[in-house]
Amino acid sequence: MNIRVLGAHSRETATTKYTSLLVDDVLALDAGSLASSLSIPAQKRLKAILVTHEHYDHVRDIPAIALNMFRECSSIQVCATPEVLIAIETHLLNGSIYPPFQDMPQERPSIRFTPVAPYEPVEICGYEVMPVPVNHSAHAVGYQVTDARGKAVFFYTGDTGPLSAECWQHLSPQLLVTETTFPARRASVAIRTRHLTPSGLHHSLIAFRQLKAYLPEVAVVHMDPAMETETAQEIAGVAGDLGASITMAHANMLLPVPEPAVPAAGMCRQGGPAASYTERETAAPACTG
Ligand SMILES: [Zn+2]
Ligand SMILES: [Zn+2]
Repeated sequence: MNIRVLGAHSRETATTKYTSLLVDDVLALDAGSLASSLSIPAQKRLKAILVTHEHYDHVRDIPAIALNMFRECSSIQVCATPEVLIAIETHLLNGSIYPPFQDMPQERPSIRFTPVAPYEPVEICGYEVMPVPVNHSAHAVGYQVTDARGKAVFFYTGDTGPLSAECWQHLSPQLLVTETTFPARRASVAIRTRHLTPSGLHHSLIAFRQLKAYLPEVAVVHMDPAMETETAQEIAGVAGDLGASITMAHANMLLPVPEPAVPAAGMCRQGGPAASYTERETAAPACTG
């Protein structure tokens, strides 16, 4: 399985993109930077998008993908919980912001909404996909993707606060793709908006290891580019403390998929820097991403 990061940040700048993953060129997870990262032929190879939740940075490119599918006489499946699909239909593809591509063309709509339910595995593009609720907005789910051999390859949390055994008991991934939006000094914002700091990631991984007796390979996305350097330093501390292998992802990175899942030596791989982003964090804006 080939897992490519298209975007790995929670804020878009000249050098950072909203979060999206691409599996084997056909299955996307979240649509923060889907259209802006892929050529038209690559977009036409897409079969489905798994959407974790309705926040703008995760659904932003759905209208753009929909228009491209429409113009190319193609179509794509958009999978999410019913509440998230309703939000997309009500606020994006509503005939005002953009055409209702879920209804047009009538004979073969460009967007095919597919509702999913927590803990109910579904087959999508030949993969078994299981939605599992996470600690974020009301209807947010992460997705565990299992390959054709029945191996649970990875779990993508989307946005989430700390996860407990209640979540982990349903999962056995070789690779965990999760978020770390803020460093420790913004812990109060992280708690209020249900995102992870490195400390929150630490707690989540300890809960995982206590239950499963191993740690998966970990890749981190959804960083705030203004605070990425200190976030990376703190994550290096988490990796060293747990003996975990944690990769800071960046756009165009191919994620490592270990086989079988085994605890790795403590290390933190630093992804590509958000080099030219220099804006300083000032007052405490609410983050809803
Ligand atoms: Zn987000
Ligand atoms: Zn969010």
